[in-house]
Amino acid sequence: MPGFRVPPPANEPVRTYAPASAERASLESRIAEMSKERIDAPLVIGGREVRSSDTFTFRAPHRHDLELAEVHAAGTEDVTAAIVASKAAHHDWSRWDPNERAAVFLRAADLIAGPWRDTINAATMLGQSKSVHQAEIEAACELVDFLRFNVAFAEQLRDMQPYSPDGMWNRMEYRPLEGFVLAISPFNFTAIACNLPTAPAIMGNTVVWKPSEKQALAAHYTMAALRAAGLPDGVINLVHGDGGLVSDVATADPDFGGLHFTGSADVMRGLWRKIGERIDTYRSFPRIVGESGGKDFVAAHPSAQVDALVVALGRGAFEYQGQKCSAASRAYIPRSLWPQVRDGLGDLAREAKQSMGDVGDLSTFMGAVIDGKAFAKHRDAIEAARTAGVEVLAGGGTDDSEGWFVDPTVLVTDDPHYDTMERELFGPILTVYVYEDDDWEDALDLVDETGPYALTGSVFAEDRHAVHEALDRLRDAAGNFYVNDKPTGSIVGQQPFGGARGSGTNDKAGSLLNIVRWSSARAIKELSVPPTDWRYPHMG
Ligand code: NAD
Repeated sequence: MPGFRVPPPANEPVRTYAPASAERASLESRIAEMSKERIDAPLVIGGREVRSSDTFTFRAPHRHDLELAEVHAAGTEDVTAAIVASKAAHHDWSRWDPNERAAVFLRAADLIAGPWRDTINAATMLGQSKSVHQAEIEAACELVDFLRFNVAFAEQLRDMQPYSPDGMWNRMEYRPLEGFVLAISPFNFTAIACNLPTAPAIMGNTVVWKPSEKQALAAHYTMAALRAAGLPDGVINLVHGDGGLVSDVATADPDFGGLHFTGSADVMRGLWRKIGERIDTYRSFPRIVGESGGKDFVAAHPSAQVDALVVALGRGAFEYQGQKCSAASRAYIPRSLWPQVRDGLGDLAREAKQSMGDVGDLSTFMGAVIDGKAFAKHRDAIEAARTAGVEVLAGGGTDDSEGWFVDPTVLVTDDPHYDTMERELFGPILTVYVYEDDDWEDALDLVDETGPYALTGSVFAEDRHAVHEALDRLRDAAGNFYVNDKPTGSIVGQQPFGGARGSGTNDKAGSLLNIVRWSSARAIKELSVPPTDWRYPHMG
């Protein structure tokens, strides 16, 4: 209805789950219940649950014996059906009053903040091996924030209207894209997985959503919550399974209108290439919005506060087992501070290891890495470092007997271009390079020139001049830059998220800049009194 305004958004408060609290008891009981179930996770196409003959078993990363779901993987015909369903829904959904569309997502936010909270958190904890705090801050709070803030950003965009001089009315209509959007999401954030299909849908697009096979359980419940909130059939079509197959079919369709991707840089480049090769076949130039990898840094100046620096390194590198695109994975520490940082970080890593285990126990700080492939990558990187003579200051152990456990590990190298200073490992492994205090400016240049990414980074300094210097020299080294804070934990509405270079298109998830990408605006000029003489005055 014209004139209605969406409620001004505020960030969802984070629950603490302190011992003996009611919220802890309620979540524990949902975790216990879910651990006993082995659900069937179908595709959802045009509002129908579709079961395929090709299924895979979804297990908890921290417990090989815990089978949580049998997931139905889409075949070519299923993906085609999902595309047909999204096209069929497009006409009506794209013409819904934007406030009516907003109402669906605001209700979904309230459901997830309320009655669905335990389910979404439990699924993320068990399915992606997140500690209770790591699940709560994103699977509940960030997801709710994305929904509430994005409907407000969509309204802000609609409010952006052109100037109309006397005699005419100029209008901007923020239409969705023609065709359908393909959303392909990563394993590591339930919030991002939900945001990739919902941000375009808020703008009136219809979507084929392919979540990560490693996030299928939480994706299943997220889809259920969206449907419970009244999302019409066909607006978001959930297809589990192989990303290569789904994207092959989707990008071969002439109505492929856009890609909303988050994942690794190689996969993103592959998708871009595929779209490029097929560019002559599309009705429109498809929008490509993609966020990819990171090799995120912490650079400390000799004036840095050591205690705060150690906490930032530990939390930044080891929370969620280092499997955040923003995780601290390379650190540059001045020689004068190194003895204290070394002691503090070593102690922290050893203590964190004591609190690693089954995330179903809510006192746990760290769980397991996501799967056997990630485990092998981390184990091999640590072994290679040992062989290369790199010091293993803390951790270095791995154990796959019950789950995919990798110790919080600190490597110390004297080669700033050593492999683990440059390559994204996506695990709980931090590599430190110690520089001479007088070489601060060179150290900043090293930070800037090392590796292909530019996602997040932190500088620690009490000296204001050093902060200024870092901001300037590292201007293009990170899309999210932190001063005296860890490089992780961006909050929707506070630090719009995304990086450039090899880290993506930097369209800032959870901001107006992202929402604008899901619209193809129409400018409408209506003249009140059209001219009736073709000649201009200068013609006499
Ligand atoms: P991934 O690239 O392995 O998978 C991402 C998605 O792409 C999954 O749904 C997967 O099934 C699909 N996929 C895999 N191969 C494909 C192919 N050939 N064609 C089409 N789709 C394919 O990434 P991941 O392991 O799920 O997530 C970790 C990566 O995501 C890291 O590189 C991390 O830095 C990045 N990430 C970035 C951000 C960000 O905002 N920049 C946020 C989260 C994660």
